Amino acid sequence: MADMQALALLIQSLRSLPGVGVKSASRMAFHLLQHDRQAALRLARALQQAVEQVRHCERCHTFAEQPLCLTCADPRRDASQLCVIETPADQSAIERTGSYRGLYFVLMGRLSPLDGIGPREIGLSHLKERVGDGLVQEVILATNFTAEGEATAHAITQMLHSQGLKVTRLARGVPVGSELEYVDLGTIAHALSDRR
Ligand code: ZN
Repeated sequence: MADMQALALLIQSLRSLPGVGVKSASRMAFHLLQHDRQAALRLARALQQAVEQVRHCERCHTFAEQPLCLTCADPRRDASQLCVIETPADQSAIERTGSYRGLYFVLMGRLSPLDGIGPREIGLSHLKERVGDGLVQEVILATNFTAEGEATAHAITQMLHSQGLKVTRLARGVPVGSELEYVDLGTIAHALSDRR
C-alpha cells in the first residue's frame, strides 16, 4: 500500500493521543478526510501553533504563552498559600470551586519510578526554591489520592520538613484512588477547607 503512506502516517500519529487505539484513530482520520477537510487543516495549524507558542510558566510550570501565567501574574492572588497539584486539569478543578485564592505549583506529573519519573522530572528542586521566596507560608498538597499521588505528597513533605513552613494535605473527603479532575466541586471545596 505504497500509495497510502500519508493516511497510514495520519492514523499512526493520531494513536499518540491518550486512549486512542488503531480503531478510533482510523475512524478520526476517515472522518476528517471524508467529511471535514477544513477542520483537519484547522487542527493541523492549531497543533503547530500550540507546539510553537505554549511553554511553561517560569514560576508554577503550568502551560503559558508568556513567561508568567495569568494566575502567577495576578496581584490579587494570595502569595502566602501555594497549592501543589499534578496537572493543569487539577488546577482548573480547584479554580472552579472558587474557594481558593492562593497560588499554585504544577508538577506536570507525579513521582513514578517505574516510568522513569523522578524528583527531577516533576521539578522538585524548583519547588523547593519557589517556597523559599519569603512570601509562601503554607504549602497545600493537592496531589491525587492514588498510590503515586500519595507517594509524591510524602516526598514533598519530607523535602519541605526543614523549611519551617506549614505543610497541609487536602482532607480525606476526596475518595481514595481518585483523580482530582473527576471529583465534584463541593467535595474539593470541602477537602480544601478541611485540610490538615
Ligand atoms: Zn504560573
